[in-house]
Order: sequence, then structure tokens, then C-alpha cells
Amino acid sequence: MAAAFADALRSLVGPAFVSDDEATRRAYGVDALGIGHPADLVVRPANTAEIAGIARLCHEHRIPLVVRGAGTGYTGGAVPTAGGVVLSMERLDRIIEIDEVNLLAVVEPNVITGDLQRAVEAVGLFYPPDPASLDTSSIGGNVAECAGGPRAFKYGVTRRYVLGLEAVLPTGEIIRTGSKAVKNVVGYDLTQLLVGSEGTLAIITRITLRLIPKPPAYRTALATFTGIQGAVDAVSALVARRVIPAALELIDQDSIEAVQQHTGEALVPAGTGAVLILETDGTPAAVEEEMARAADACRAAGALAVTAAASDAERDRIWAVRRAVSLALKATGLTKVNHDVVVPRGRVPDLFAVVADLRARHGLRIASFGHAGDGNIHVNIMIDGSDPDARARATAAERTLFEQVVALEGSISGEHGIGFAKKPYIGLELSPDEIALMRRVKAAFDPRGILNPGKMFPDA
Ligand SMILES: Cc1cc2nc3c(=O)[nH]c(=O)nc-3n(C[C@H](O)[C@H](O)[C@H](O)COP(=O)(O)OP(=O)(O)OC[C@H]3O[C@@H](n4cnc5c(N)ncnc54)[C@H](O)[C@@H]3O)c2cc1C
Repeated sequence: MAAAFADALRSLVGPAFVSDDEATRRAYGVDALGIGHPADLVVRPANTAEIAGIARLCHEHRIPLVVRGAGTGYTGGAVPTAGGVVLSMERLDRIIEIDEVNLLAVVEPNVITGDLQRAVEAVGLFYPPDPASLDTSSIGGNVAECAGGPRAFKYGVTRRYVLGLEAVLPTGEIIRTGSKAVKNVVGYDLTQLLVGSEGTLAIITRITLRLIPKPPAYRTALATFTGIQGAVDAVSALVARRVIPAALELIDQDSIEAVQQHTGEALVPAGTGAVLILETDGTPAAVEEEMARAADACRAAGALAVTAAASDAERDRIWAVRRAVSLALKATGLTKVNHDVVVPRGRVPDLFAVVADLRARHGLRIASFGHAGDGNIHVNIMIDGSDPDARARATAAERTLFEQVVALEGSISGEHGIGFAKKPYIGLELSPDEIALMRRVKAAFDPRGILNPGKMFPDA
């Protein structure tokens, strides 16, 4: 990289905020996918004006520019696969405003999701999107990936809460999309175009989020089943009874065992083959009534037991199990090839049939867990990563999984995005015309293709 370019960056943001040492370049070159590539330079700007200057410089010098939030992404979105500059948003981490009259918050992108939730809950408000990574991921990353979480079943994903954005184009202009009003139909909806754009269209520098009143009460329960089928039947029974819990999470036997191994605790009775975590929220009367109906549905589907949390500590313990699954699977020492496929809710039983078939046909260990309520299941193929044969079987299973999910009218990613990990497969879901249109949108924002190159689209 030309010394003149690095010097220009240093004079723009200050030399202390531009790093080129090996350790930093590697640390900022990897995300939770675990397959990294070092950046050439890491820059940590303080504000939107500096970010606009960095974009202009990169555009002018045709240097790849990759935005990094908290680096918890699962598809390599923040990895600088083509080298260049990693632009870390870590210094833009302020909650600028919580507007209790208009029910909204204005934040900088690197506010940690859980910190925002706690801040708004302190004044009786609620920001529902709750990715399991909420204590480590940033709102900017959540917006760029359109993150979801257990509460998406009832409350929807990040997209539903984004009212407006400030963003820097890869050519250096600063744009403002949407507004603070809840209605806005002027022009194309650039706000929603940027949500889920995985850092390929613009650099999001400020976010206006819709809030709702905090539900006054909640009830949480753990239902155990002998196997996946019972848990899946319970989901259908719940919906048939018109119960939409705030959360409905499924964990299969492989995942439960990994958590038990990781924590050293027996979390469920022996013989448990699957669990559902249910949470209802609303007024005290409504949560009790809904939970009673939900528990009935679980029992009708053959639940071994439905145990309600008797205290906040018990509730936290139940959720800690769910949030530990991902890390516990990683801690098995096997390579976790992570997928977050989604099917229409009614096709969840078909999805599990596909998974059982893949397991048998390819001789693979597959651990599944996730958001049963909205059909978004994390299917994790667990392999010895050093075994080329296991890798080949996992790759074959992955393609079949994606083909089958699309055949079930679902999608190959519900919330983790495409990054570089899933880009070979988007043609299974999108037509050549749709991909070509998306490439033209990308070119309109980023004519020189400098922003997060090599992501989302299949290689030419
Ligand atoms: C243990 C664990 C559990 C997880 N659970 C969930 C879950 O339940 N639901 C879920 O949806 N995800 C989950 N994830 C995935 C991950 O946390 C989310 O994708 C999250 O939204 C990424 O946020 P981040 O700040 O870490 O973004 P990063 O990983 O830093 O970046 C992700 C992408 O967003 C882009 N980006 C980041 N900030 C900006 C910005 N300001 N402007 C433009 N582009 C930007 C990057 O370029 C990159 O393409 C989990 C991850 C882990 C490790």
C-alpha cells in the first residue's frame, strides 16, 4: 500500500488511530466465522466527517475498505478478504438520544445491543431485537446484517425498528435516509435497502430506532421432549391454538449435550431428546393465560415436562443455556460449520426430515437449534476440520441442505447474511436477473467496487 495513502489517512484521523502492526492487522482481520485475512491498515475514526474522508481517499486510490462493527458476524462479512483498510467503528459508541415522547432512540453504530436494551428499559421502553450475541454485537452490525433473535417470532427482526440512517457512501458523500417520523413514503426506501446490505453499499454512521413500551410482565418455561418430533409438533400445536409467544426456541439433543459438557451441569433429565424454551410477555393476566395455553399445547404434543421459571434467576438460567449453545458447540473441539436456514413455519418438520436424511446419508454429526417459532434453525455440521473426507461430506451436505430449503420455499440465510461464506450459493435462491439487478444497485452506490469487495455475490 502506497506510503502517501497511509500518510494521508494518518493526517485525517491522527496517527494514534491508524495501525499497521501485524498483531492488529490480524486481530481485525477475522470474525466469528474464524477464517480470517489480515488487513493492510486498521483505522479507527472518531466521527462521520473522518469516515467520509477515509471513503474519499479509498475511492480515489481504489483501496478496498471494509467496515467492522464488533466482529461477531458468522459469515466473514467484516473480513478484509482482499486486504486494504479495515474501518473499525469502535469509537462511535454513544447513545445520542432516547426520545420518550416519540418512542425512539438515536445511536451511533457501535453501541452494544444489550447496552441499548438496558438503557431504554430503564425508562420503561423496549428494543426487542435480541440476537444471542447481544452482549457483544453492535447495533451497526445488527442493522447491516438485519439481525434476529428469539423475540423475532412475536416482534420481528431489526429491520422493523430502523426508522432512519445517516450513512457515508463509498464515494464519500454523507446521506440521511428516512426520518424520525413513523411514516415516510418519499422516494425509494433507502433505509430498508441499507438494512441487511452487509457493509457493501454504505457505511452506517448513525441510526434512528423505533422503540415500544416495555411489556410489564413475562413468564418463561422449559418444555422437555423425548425427541425433535415432539418439539416440532408442539410448535404447530401452539400456532394452531393461536398463541404467539414472545420467544419459542428449540434445542436438539446434540446441542443440549454440548452445553452440559461445557458447563459440567446436568441441565435436563436423562432421556431428554429436545427442549423448547417458551416465553410469553404482556400484562400479568395475559402472560399467565398465554403460558397456560402454550404449556397445554406442549403437553398435547407429548412433552415430558413443562417447567416454568419461578424467579428471575431461574429465567436467566434457562436463557443462559440457550445463549451458551453456540459457544458450547465450538468448545467440543470439532469444527462447527454453521448454517442459519429458514423455512416457512409449517415446513419445520420437513426441514428436520432433511437434516435427519443428511445425517444418515453423509455420516455426519449435525447439531440443530434456533428460532423454531419463525422457522429459522441453526443447522451446525460438526466435523473434524483436519479430515479432508469429513470436509468433503460437509460441503456435499451443505449444498443439499440449501437446495432443499429453497425447495421448501425458505431461504439459505435467515439472519447471519451471506458474507463470503455463503456467496457461492446465492444463485440457488436468486435468479440471474435478480443477481444482476443487485449488482447494478451495488455499482450505483460504489462505482469502483471498493466497499467490502468479494462479498455477497458469487465470483464472476
Ligand atoms: C455466539 C454468537 C451468537 C450469535 N447469535 C446471533 C443471533 O441470535 N441472531 C443473529 O442475527 N446473529 C447472531 N450472531 C451473529 C452476529 O452477532 C450478528 O450478525 C451481528 O449482527 C453482527 O454484529 P457485529 O457488530 O459483530 O458486526 P460485524 O461482524 O463487525 O460485521 C458484520 C457485517 O456488518 C457490516 N457492518 C458492521 N458495522 C457496519 C456499519 N456501521 N455500517 C455498514 N456496515 C457495517 C460489516 O462490514 C460486516 O459485513 C451470533 C454470533 C455469535 C458469535
